[in-house]
Amino acid sequence: MQEFSLRTPIGYLKGVGPQRAEILNKELAVFTFEDLLYYYPFRYNDRSVYSKINQIDPTKPGVQFIARLLNFEIQGDRRSRRLVAHVKDDTGIAQLVWFQSIKWVEKNLTIGSAYVIYGSPSLFNNQISISHPEMELYVGSNQGLKFQPVYASTEKLKKLSLDSKGIQRLVSSLFSALKDNIDETLPDEILTKYKLIDLPSALRGIHFPDDADSIQRSLYRLKFEELFFLQLKILKTKVAHNQKFKGPVLKNVGEHFTDFYEKKLPFQLTNAQKRVIKEIRKDTLYGAQMNRLLQGDVGSGKTIVALMTMLLAIDNGYQACLMAPTEILAQQHYAGLKELLGVERVSIALLTGSIKQKDRKVIHEGLLNGDLDILIGTHALLEDKVKFKNLGLAIIDEQHRFGVEQRSKLWKKNSVPPHMLVMTATPIPRTLAMTLYGDLDISVIDELPAGRKPISTLHFHERSRLRMFGMLREEIAKGRQVYVVYPLIEESEKLDLLHLKAGKEFLEREFPLPVYKVGILHGKMTPKEKEFEMNRFVKGETQILVATTVIEVGVNVPNASVMVIENAERFGLSQLHQLRGRVGRGPEQSFCILMTKEKLSRESKIRMQTMVRTTDGFEIAETDLKLRGPGDLSGTQQSGVLELKLANLATDQALLQLARNEVIDIFEKDPTLGSEKNSLLRSFLSKSSFGIGWEKIS
Ligand code: ADP
Ligand code: MG
Repeated sequence: MQEFSLRTPIGYLKGVGPQRAEILNKELAVFTFEDLLYYYPFRYNDRSVYSKINQIDPTKPGVQFIARLLNFEIQGDRRSRRLVAHVKDDTGIAQLVWFQSIKWVEKNLTIGSAYVIYGSPSLFNNQISISHPEMELYVGSNQGLKFQPVYASTEKLKKLSLDSKGIQRLVSSLFSALKDNIDETLPDEILTKYKLIDLPSALRGIHFPDDADSIQRSLYRLKFEELFFLQLKILKTKVAHNQKFKGPVLKNVGEHFTDFYEKKLPFQLTNAQKRVIKEIRKDTLYGAQMNRLLQGDVGSGKTIVALMTMLLAIDNGYQACLMAPTEILAQQHYAGLKELLGVERVSIALLTGSIKQKDRKVIHEGLLNGDLDILIGTHALLEDKVKFKNLGLAIIDEQHRFGVEQRSKLWKKNSVPPHMLVMTATPIPRTLAMTLYGDLDISVIDELPAGRKPISTLHFHERSRLRMFGMLREEIAKGRQVYVVYPLIEESEKLDLLHLKAGKEFLEREFPLPVYKVGILHGKMTPKEKEFEMNRFVKGETQILVATTVIEVGVNVPNASVMVIENAERFGLSQLHQLRGRVGRGPEQSFCILMTKEKLSRESKIRMQTMVRTTDGFEIAETDLKLRGPGDLSGTQQSGVLELKLANLATDQALLQLARNEVIDIFEKDPTLGSEKNSLLRSFLSKSSFGIGWEKIS
């Protein structure tokens, strides 16, 4: 008899053959026995209970009962041709209908026989009716699987009789072929510690469960394994990285830092800011290289933390750079930091796409000979020409706008890799952070500076537009300013721009010169034009700024107290939250007004309700994750990491934490996984290819 292993190509499985193998490859990415073994059902039909016909609830999705065939006939013609049968138990009569495969069904029906019938019921002429039921001859009480697995199939597979049932037959044949050739993947110790069933039982249990309980136990074991190995890969990269790279030692808290902290800092740091600065200090003290993600809601004060970290680098003889995703933001950082620092011995420069060639030259030279301490900029900062004398710290602001590639470019700007601090105002749910950014350490600023009034968020339908205008008038009369944001998405860019301009004209009629001035800002303007418009708004010359989401990141105008978001239903939650974060930066009460059409999808409604209910970015991120699933979230360029088969990052948080803690524990005790009991883990890692970023870098 032939020996099969997990690596055997799927074509060798009984019942497959070359033609089906090809389609299985193409449609399901099933190439080997192993792939099919891990092709899980996505749900089960509960075949454990039988109903009586008079008890069938037509609102339930699936029902099973035993009944005798009374009669059947073909009705209608051509398109309406159908096979109608009636079955009877001791409580009543039900109707069964087929529109397809009529001939085949007809051939297999025997009047007078008892069948087990399963399907989704509806009410037709006051009678229970089931179309295309599953039927088997009744053979006694121990019939078939209690929980029937349902596998995802495709049209092409179905043509080759590989519908869910067909796939189930293959899996069945797979188990006979493999016999006991399925090896355990987790160490005994872990199985015992977490009360996990062994792998062969779990795989059998998920494909052919005996009862609901065995589905649960199998799922638990397989989800744990999935999350555990994912964390093992992520943390392995991190451990390897720490062993391989040394970072600049930032031992001294010197003049620049102290002077700023004691004399220039215009406010008290929040406790959260202090804590994060301590975490960074600890990271950079001993010559390890820091890779830290700083999460903090909009307005939580990340910039000060960035600045103080840069001063720390300078105090230790290093240069620092800060990269922002847009020119406006880079300029604002530059101006803001200059102001905070005052006339200092710190020299700081701005490098963006619109800096002139000859000025660039000066900057390039200053960076190389060490005259410049701090460089602020956009992507321009990544160019090869930009070389530092001694870069000790690189900071990325609004990191979700950048990819891993860009992180890695910054990292290569020094022979000893600089410390990296990446900042984001798009809070990422913990589970996602542990996975997506599992290779980074994470700091969180979870506290807003004192004295901020929470932004009040209102959801208006189109018919309340006049009321909205009234609110704007009131606010402007108090000397405040207003943003009005329109959606802009690439596919409908032209149309959206028209809307934006029409919106501006409309506003200008409502808010006419000379009392009011309306400005406009969008991505198609040149940097000079944008700067001009932004400056007019910053200086208070315009009261209303009509804009696209170019203002989404980072822009800081404390006097702006109202954010109107037009067509708010077209924005995702995290974007809405970002936009709202542009107001509420001053001492006054601020407002965010979400304008939508009347009729909204369920999801849009939840988005609006969430925005109105809370200003907590983490709560919003959790809701977003639940609504959209992890794959879609912004900042998930590495979303391959998130393609989990069973585990769900939105709902399996506790399990993920458990798995991650276990992995951390293992690496602490045995960083190289050299011990005998970790041999399974070692061999897993040597087999797996995997990238979340650092490999590209190191
Ligand atoms: P973000 O985290 O969104 O980047 P910023 O760093 O731009 O936030 O800070 C928002 C505003 O809050 C800025 O005007 C900043 O000067 C101010 N700020 C930061 N920290 C504090 C603090 N501890 N107390 C008072 N205001 C602060
Ligand atoms: Mg910021």
